[in-house]
Amino acid sequence: MGVTTRLIALVMLPVTAMCLLAGSVVLSRRGSASEAVAVDRGVVALNEMVTLRDALLVQETSSVFDGRVLELGTTREIATTFLGFDPGTEVATQRTLGDRAIAALGPSSPVGADVLHVLYAGIDAGTIDPRVAAQRLGGYITVTVETLLRSLDSLEGGARETPLTAALESLREVIGLVDLAAPQAIELSEVWFPSPGATPQATAVVSTQFAERRADFAATSGRLRALGVESVIAAMGRIDADPEVQAFELAATDALHGVPLIAAGAVLDAAKVATAFRGYFTRRVMLEDLIGTTVTSVRSEAHHLAATERAGFLTWALGTAALALVSVGVALRLARSISKPLKELADYAHKVNEGELEAEPSPSRKHGPRETRLAYSIFTDLVANLQLLDAKANALALCDFDNPVLRAPLPGRLGRSLESSVALLSGSIVERDQLQTHLAFQATHDSLTGIGNRPAAITAIEAAMHRAARTGATIAVLFVDLNDFKAVNDRHGHEAGDAVLRHVAEQLKIDLRSGDFLARLGGDEFVVVAEGIDGVADATDLARRVIETIGRPTKVGGLNVSIGAAVGVAMTLDGPEEPLQLLARADAAMYRAKLHDESAIEIFDAGLQQQMIERVDIETALAAALADPTGGGLQLHYQPVLDAASARLVGVEALIRWDRPGIGMLQPDSFIPIAEATALIIDLDCWVLAEATRQLMAWSTVAELAEVPVAVNISGRHLLSRHLPDHISAVLDKTGIDPHRLSIEITETVLLADLIAAAVELDAVRALGVSVAIDDFGTGYTSLAHLQQLPIDTIKIDRSFISQLNVRRGSSLVRMVTDLGHAIDINIVAEGVETDEEMSALQAMGADHIQGYLLSRPLTPVALCAWAHERIAA
Ligand code: C2E
Ligand code: CA
Ligand code: CA
Repeated sequence: MGVTTRLIALVMLPVTAMCLLAGSVVLSRRGSASEAVAVDRGVVALNEMVTLRDALLVQETSSVFDGRVLELGTTREIATTFLGFDPGTEVATQRTLGDRAIAALGPSSPVGADVLHVLYAGIDAGTIDPRVAAQRLGGYITVTVETLLRSLDSLEGGARETPLTAALESLREVIGLVDLAAPQAIELSEVWFPSPGATPQATAVVSTQFAERRADFAATSGRLRALGVESVIAAMGRIDADPEVQAFELAATDALHGVPLIAAGAVLDAAKVATAFRGYFTRRVMLEDLIGTTVTSVRSEAHHLAATERAGFLTWALGTAALALVSVGVALRLARSISKPLKELADYAHKVNEGELEAEPSPSRKHGPRETRLAYSIFTDLVANLQLLDAKANALALCDFDNPVLRAPLPGRLGRSLESSVALLSGSIVERDQLQTHLAFQATHDSLTGIGNRPAAITAIEAAMHRAARTGATIAVLFVDLNDFKAVNDRHGHEAGDAVLRHVAEQLKIDLRSGDFLARLGGDEFVVVAEGIDGVADATDLARRVIETIGRPTKVGGLNVSIGAAVGVAMTLDGPEEPLQLLARADAAMYRAKLHDESAIEIFDAGLQQQMIERVDIETALAAALADPTGGGLQLHYQPVLDAASARLVGVEALIRWDRPGIGMLQPDSFIPIAEATALIIDLDCWVLAEATRQLMAWSTVAELAEVPVAVNISGRHLLSRHLPDHISAVLDKTGIDPHRLSIEITETVLLADLIAAAVELDAVRALGVSVAIDDFGTGYTSLAHLQQLPIDTIKIDRSFISQLNVRRGSSLVRMVTDLGHAIDINIVAEGVETDEEMSALQAMGADHIQGYLLSRPLTPVALCAWAHERIAA
């Protein structure tokens, strides 16, 4: 049940009670009105009966008159002449009025017309004695008056204490008055003219009766006046004031006081008699008029009452209906004033529940009952809190910790838990951000020097190139490589090396122009990116400044150092579109600069450009050759190694050649360094390992070579790749050759780059049973102390020393190394022996093995077989 239904029900209860009450009032008013109408109608009938009675009274008087005429023994003519008027003149008129009244009354008439007409006929014909007729008429009058009074009773019984009852009472009294008035003429005549033979007692009785009747008349008149019906009182006043009526009254009073009609000795005062009886008739006529007046007053009161009651009934009915309508209307309005804000609150709540936090609360929230307004305001507060919560959650989602909304207080437990989660989240997000910033910094910065790293350098070059593309300016990339940095590391330790690198970075940072970008690519390589370069001369100037800055003598960690640098410069003058390409060009230029002994600057030029093209060409062709199962022109030549004392063949060194299709035979110097710059060298080493061991298997049928060991050159990149032991054991497994027949050669400079890592790998190789030789010994700076710790079996002294055996430097190193080697059980091989002198010197110094053109150039497998065969034969 909604609010409206409830309120209507509430209102309908009193309204219904009120309607019932009003209904009874209305009904009673309606009753009164219809009663008044009934009275009105009854009075009309009553009037007819009064008319009938008057008609009968007039005839009775006439008959009594006739009877008196007979009694007095006179004639009608005499009597009428004496009186001055004839009481019978009105009879005809009254009969007609009586007939009309009977007809109007219909069946309710107290007297039948036929009975009366028979009586009239008897009277007219003289067949009925006037005194009998008067008696019979008196009987009819009595019946009529009884009926009349009964009717009056019934009318009065209905009416309540109103002016109508007064009027009705007046009517009753007036009728009584007429009754009391009617016999007075006869009674006066009997007092004045007693019947002959009447006893004085009888005459006294008549007098007393007359006096009593007149007293009754006066009393009735008094009551009538007391009823206060104005029109009646006025009419009575007129009757009393009438001189003829007064003459009758005076005559009647005199007669009752015994004043004799004929004074002693005088003549009968006929005029007095005539005046008295005319007065009687005048009063009778005036009393008839009084009846008319009273009836009119009754009717007018009845009409008035009916109208008032009807008006009252209408007022009550309409008033009640209006009140009921207004009550229901007010109830509806009230219900609406409650239900409307409630419904809107429900709608609003529904919207908010659906997530529409921005929904507008309806303006009716400020109207309606206090409780509804309160509920609305609490709910809008709740929504405001939800909005705040939403804003806070959003700010959190966006990590907008500075947003003031996060500091806005939110009441209650929800607010507190949100606050603590904000604190927790913001803390962890700030931590995460710091970590990210740190990682991002690390990703783009060199951890040692704090300047940019390689990825940052590439990004910087790219950005500079974009700017240059717009402005048309020129960029120069300087590739800087420190000279002899390895020596610093080796001699003074890594910490000193790191200090030098940090020092160089700091100095460069100070000396470079603010717009120039500095990064360390790794190791001792730095790069400078300079924008807005004016040409080659400008770039060269910058490179010179860089070399000067780096070369400035300084103290690092208690050491006096002066560092040289090689700088390669590449520019975007007509140049490349790619950052990496520009960097590669600068690298290539630096590589050429490195070839000079002193610090030097090289600008990337057409020659370098050609070299780079060739390198790329070789790289792709070599990759294709390695992928080719037939080797793509790759082949191994083998150079014999002989025992210095007995000239016995103690091994062969596998040396690669490349009969490049369409180009011809290439020496390793032309492609090995290129392969070493990429991971291709590992594939190449593996290919050599496989080919050399395959060859060993093939020679197992050749008597001279069946037991010969083979040495394979392995690049530094391969050694440090950590895959070398696996690769070697794979070929050993595959061919099943004796591991002692395989050895690997690693150049001294490679070993020095990372002695510890190299030692670990070499140990693993030796654990397979494969021996290890240190190649090109003397070109690096291996200290003799290091040599003792290295897990090696053989030292191959570089050709540069062998060719200088005749000079002091060469011979002393060879002697020293040979002595040490023998002391720690290391085999000494002399490489590049070209002359007999060298040969005999080496033999004298005690070198174990000899390798060189003097004995044999590297040979194809077929040629080696022939060479070996020939030697045996020789
Ligand atoms: P290396 O390991 O020092 O090889 C010895 C080089 O000296 C060979 O040059 C050989 O032909 C040359 N040679 C030998 N005796 C004499 C002599 O009496 N006088 C002169 N002037 N030279 C002599 P090659 O074959 O041109 O090899 C050059 C370098 O290429 C090798 O130097 C080695 O470092 C590298 N190499 C050659 N083959 C391979 C290979 O299969 N794998 C790898 N990683 N490197 C290889
Ligand atoms: Ca070698
Ligand atoms: Ca060598």
